[in-house]
Amino acid sequence: MTTDTTTDTTTQVLITGSGPTGLALACDLALRGVGVRVLERRSGAHRESRGKGLTPDGLEVLARLGVGERLTAVGSDVPVLRKYFDGAHVSDTPADGGGLLIGQWQVEEVLRERLAGLGVRVEYGARVTGLAQDPAWVTARLADGREVRARYAAGCDGGRSTIRELLGIPFEGYTEEKPTMVVGDVRAPGLSRAYWHQWFSSEGGGILLCPMPGTDTFQLQAAPETDADGEPLPPTPEGFQRLFDRYAGIPGIRLEEAGWLSSWRVNVRRAARMREGRVLLAGDAAHVHPIAGGLGMNTGIQDAAALARTLAAALADPAPAPGGVLDGYEAERLPVAERLLADTAARHRRVLAAVREPGRGTEAGMR
Ligand SMILES: Cc1cc2nc3c(=O)[nH]c(=O)nc-3n(C[C@H](O)[C@H](O)[C@H](O)COP(=O)(O)OP(=O)(O)OC[C@H]3O[C@@H](n4cnc5c(N)ncnc54)[C@H](O)[C@@H]3O)c2cc1C
Repeated sequence: MTTDTTTDTTTQVLITGSGPTGLALACDLALRGVGVRVLERRSGAHRESRGKGLTPDGLEVLARLGVGERLTAVGSDVPVLRKYFDGAHVSDTPADGGGLLIGQWQVEEVLRERLAGLGVRVEYGARVTGLAQDPAWVTARLADGREVRARYAAGCDGGRSTIRELLGIPFEGYTEEKPTMVVGDVRAPGLSRAYWHQWFSSEGGGILLCPMPGTDTFQLQAAPETDADGEPLPPTPEGFQRLFDRYAGIPGIRLEEAGWLSSWRVNVRRAARMREGRVLLAGDAAHVHPIAGGLGMNTGIQDAAALARTLAAALADPAPAPGGVLDGYEAERLPVAERLLADTAARHRRVLAAVREPGRGTEAGMR
């Protein structure tokens, strides 16, 4: 039986993180009748576009959780990719692959609604800072001193995972020293919302504006501005406008910042292990990689499906053998993470090469 256990300190599975991975895992477990709690350090839900695409595989997993129709109602087809080079319109490329364009916050909202319908609410302002394990239980300590005990715990707490660190699991791979992209959500009154605009330049660099469905905003991605020494500058609304003027050069379009701006650097890393005792990792906590191809959120959602199956089986076994069913999760998902890192690093290189040619753009990373 699933319950909202915010006043109880014990549950079957404790999930840290309410991104797409943690929420998909919580829904899947709740649908299987497993008691779950979801702890989230943020004070409330966000509205950041971030991971903006569901692949057919990701959508299929979510449809099994009962949210397929809702997601397709909120999202849209990926629009035509309109490519410009040195300010001139060069080509239009239909998006292929059958994916759904949708903001990450909208995916999370749909999953949260589903979860609430199953009797579970995300617990905000709950930052996990400590973990202890014995042969039967995991105990998580929160920043405010509370403790929560569970039979199993899942670290779905993103690329800078506290859970992974607390478990002492190395995050193997590399991080590029400098941010290579600024990202954010903006309004661009007057700019057509029929296209994913992609401006590139013979000098290198560029700016992309993708219209996000169900909103009046675009997701902006651009090469960062640099200072006199060539060092990348952090994102600012004024900087977004300067980048737009430089690469798109459409007089009269004024960008308005819409609540999210960030910078992004290349990370190609995966956890050396996905389990330590009764605690398992999923999503960005277990693997981070270039966004070319839009596979991060989707892979996390697929991790969640495998982890829900694993945990439900482990909980159903009154005397599980050490490792046993739990080892199957890592055996299934670690090779996927390994392939994902190599695949997305290659897609990233293809995009970087393609955008130097007039008429080409992010479609180079889609296959
Ligand atoms: C510009 C951009 C575009 C992208 N495009 C795509 C795309 O098209 N398709 C795609 O699949 N992916 C895309 N991604 C990647 C995608 O955003 C990530 O892979 C995805 O967010 C991973 O989900 P997650 O749930 O594993 O982690 P996260 O979304 O990072 O969620 C982790 C959660 O854990 C919480 N948390 C962290 N630490 C703690 C703690 N100690 N205690 C409690 N809570 C904690 C955080 O607040 C957060 O809410 C994109 C990313 C960016 C930046």
